[in-house]
Amino acid sequence: MAIELQQSRLAFSIVSSAARVRVCAPLGKCAGLGNLSRRNFSQAAEALEINEVEARPEVQVKDDKIISPRKFLLGKSEKELQDLCEEMGEKRFRGKQMYLLLYKVRKAEIQEFTNLSKGFREKLISEGWEVGRSPIHHKVNSVDGTIKVLLKLKDSRLIETVGIPADEENNRLTVCVSSQVGCPLRCAFCATGKGGFTRSLKPHEIIEQVLVMEEIFKQRVSNVVFMGMGEPMLNMASVLAAHRCLNEDIGIGQRMITISTVGVPNSIRKLAAHKLQSTLAVSLHAPNQRLREQIVPSAKSYPLDALMEDCKEYFSITGRRVSFEYTLLAGVNDSKELAFELGELLHHWDMSHHVNLIPYNPVADSLFQRPWQKSVQTFVETLAKCRVNASVRQTRGLDANAACGQLRNQFQKTPLEDESLVKSV
Ligand code: SF4
Repeated sequence: MAIELQQSRLAFSIVSSAARVRVCAPLGKCAGLGNLSRRNFSQAAEALEINEVEARPEVQVKDDKIISPRKFLLGKSEKELQDLCEEMGEKRFRGKQMYLLLYKVRKAEIQEFTNLSKGFREKLISEGWEVGRSPIHHKVNSVDGTIKVLLKLKDSRLIETVGIPADEENNRLTVCVSSQVGCPLRCAFCATGKGGFTRSLKPHEIIEQVLVMEEIFKQRVSNVVFMGMGEPMLNMASVLAAHRCLNEDIGIGQRMITISTVGVPNSIRKLAAHKLQSTLAVSLHAPNQRLREQIVPSAKSYPLDALMEDCKEYFSITGRRVSFEYTLLAGVNDSKELAFELGELLHHWDMSHHVNLIPYNPVADSLFQRPWQKSVQTFVETLAKCRVNASVRQTRGLDANAACGQLRNQFQKTPLEDESLVKSV
């Protein structure tokens, strides 16, 4: 069976035991996965994930000549760096030095690894190794302290990252990271979905988002949420690799990391098998299948009952309560009746949970409106009557194009070419 996601330029084929799935990794718009059947959705989703692992390595081009595949140090563990040094004829302790330079001293260029000999540095560079850091293309500061940046990746694509400091009482700094360039799932209210899908991020492209925020805020990042551009479950290999590095190498506790999803068939159980102590945040947005399909088109391929069953499994395996995200859209899903229905749904599935209510942050050309404060209040009170634990997420950075994908859409519809556009802070 061949599933064609209409795209151009970089095409590759993947042979699975069940079917041959041809995916054209998109560099422009994508048809999206929202309307595929459940089986095809799973296959396409798997293919998108394999894309991460099997796509041709990026190459460096100099004077129109390919000089070597690009390889990135960021994301490698101490042992992997030691192995690399050994393979290149160096002593293993050089790997420890590289580890410290990458994760403690935070050097962004191999030329700055002055603990290493000049010859070794040159050898690393000539073999295509880079640290794997990207320049800041644009930065927006919000009056509430939130900072959003666009990072310009090697292929001139832009990704959004948001740094959200807590109030003065605590020292928390949360970073909302992207896992893909764009997103193929096209949720009805989402600016990222409107902007189309390009590709999944590699581990270093996720990790560097955290490092850049530490540098901007001059403060350690305490919490990471995978809630930026993209669907993390469609890029699970990179998300897990970045999660390992953020936890073990950068020192962010697993419990301080949240992985969100709107739901991709078979992925929650796969994630649960890793027994992470991180929070699973499921974007529910509706308490019944009919309404959910209107807000999240990909829900057609993943019935609500199946999603809730998988969430329950995640809770049983990890012992971690599941967080349900519910974006409140005025007149669509913010009624008292739907709050009752949500309460019933959560009680029916009987797992430890928390509901995060997110009053919608309007994006350009959106059909949806921000709910009235009164509706939000009534929704919360109704959930409380149903004995459902809920909180309303404070909207941060409204003046900084806070909705996911909004800022990126302003700056990028096609790959950037003009280097003069790059700004630094
Ligand atoms: S809400 Fe998330 S999953 Fe849905 S289109 Fe936006 S980025 Fe993708």
